[in-house]
Amino acid sequence: MSKKCIYCKQEIAQESVIDFCKSCGVKVWGEKMFGAIVKNMEKARTDGDLYQGSVSSSAQNRAQI
Ligand SMILES: [Zn+2]
Repeated sequence: MSKKCIYCKQEIAQESVIDFCKSCGVKVWGEKMFGAIVKNMEKARTDGDLYQGSVSSSAQNRAQI
């Protein structure tokens, strides 16, 4: 199953942390904000991977957001 941009339906990388392509992201949020969003999403995913296998700490982590 391929992943598509929610705005322009262009195919995006399956491993992408966001549901839209870069050009749409920049159009919607601006380059600076888009960069910050991607960075935060990637960090969240990295943190999530670290917490995998520990249900209690990931639930705690989610509650803090
Ligand atoms: Zn797009």
